Amino acid sequence: MSASSMLDKIRKKQSRVENQGLLRRRHAISVNGAEEQNLDLSGGLSLTQEGKHYLNFSSNDYLGLSRSKVLIEALILGANTYGVGSGSSPLVTGYSEAHLVLEQKLCEVTGHQAALLFCSGFSANTALMKTLFDSSDRVIADKLVHASVIDGLKDSQAEFKRFLHNDIASAERLISKQAPSALVTESIFSMDGDIAPLAALSRLCKQHHMSFIVDDAHGFGVQMPPLVDATIADIQVVTFGKALGCQGAAILASQEVIDFLVSNAREYIYSTALSPANACVALAAVELVNSDFSRSKKLNENIDYFRKQCEQTGIKLTDSQTAIQPLILGDVDVTLKVAEQLKQLGFCVGAIRPPTVPQGASRLRMTLTAMHTFNDLDKLVDGLKSVLHHHEI
Ligand SMILES: *Cc1c(COP(=O)(O)O)cnc(C)c1O
Repeated sequence: MSASSMLDKIRKKQSRVENQGLLRRRHAISVNGAEEQNLDLSGGLSLTQEGKHYLNFSSNDYLGLSRSKVLIEALILGANTYGVGSGSSPLVTGYSEAHLVLEQKLCEVTGHQAALLFCSGFSANTALMKTLFDSSDRVIADKLVHASVIDGLKDSQAEFKRFLHNDIASAERLISKQAPSALVTESIFSMDGDIAPLAALSRLCKQHHMSFIVDDAHGFGVQMPPLVDATIADIQVVTFGKALGCQGAAILASQEVIDFLVSNAREYIYSTALSPANACVALAAVELVNSDFSRSKKLNENIDYFRKQCEQTGIKLTDSQTAIQPLILGDVDVTLKVAEQLKQLGFCVGAIRPPTVPQGASRLRMTLTAMHTFNDLDKLVDGLKSVLHHHEI
């Protein structure tokens, strides 16, 4: 293919995307505003874009740890000790004591035998699926599992079917037809905020001698007591970019599975190891969330308060009891307009559209954090009320 035919093709594809209202754009966040206005950097819920300040209801930094002094100091100490980069892949010289200690801590808090660190949850998930499974496997997964799981399963060439979201009977039907070797789900679903029936799925997997794999990206560190550990899942993927406020991820499993991944996972073998300073921050974050529950308690109070205020105002949220509070609007254009109008009122909320969610299920995705005040939540509810009223929703 010549360069111009490639460009012709992507222009056509891009104009289709644009016509469907699905063009995605980036907006850089600046920190200058925070300094100028002397905003509390421990807060982390306000953000500045193009000189304007917004209350942020679209961050996965559920506990506000990305700006915690303890973690900032852990990063500085980590960098002073190990430098800012790992220098090579883990199997060369990129694996340091900082990584080892973090792996041990993760095993201690989850009960798994062994752990393997990655630079992102996306690469952890794709590596796991691609490496564990091949064309001789059958795998079933919840309809709403993350894109990284789907990509990894596609790459693996395993036969792959999805059961209806959080539906045990649907999973059982697939099991009786397929005799799969594994079942994959999330703990808290990223776009819906609902929780998988983990105990029931775990029992089902044991009964049918299947491996139970749980992507715990949105649960780890925020849900106390934890939703997932080694008694529930055979393999657990945790990420550090959400509640832990930093970056990276880990696969937790038996020693045998981890040893297999070390020798065979291409994303692990051929990629520069997570920076050891980042491993130091993640360790400090895991220690913090397991010793100080005040942030997760405040988050839960915020969730209850927000839901109560919405109910009193007639705003129909879903049943989600977690920090992820979707408001399903259905139509793509309406969702974009509502999000834009909320932005004009000073609120940053996610407008989630296909293909991230199914057709007709476009939504606002509001995430609450421990750093929001009740006053912030009141403001959002008022903003929602006026914008939804304007659209006669
Ligand atoms: C965010 C997310 C990931 C990817 O994690 P990153 O560390 O951000 O790459 C994987 N699974 C789920 C469910 C997620 O929400």
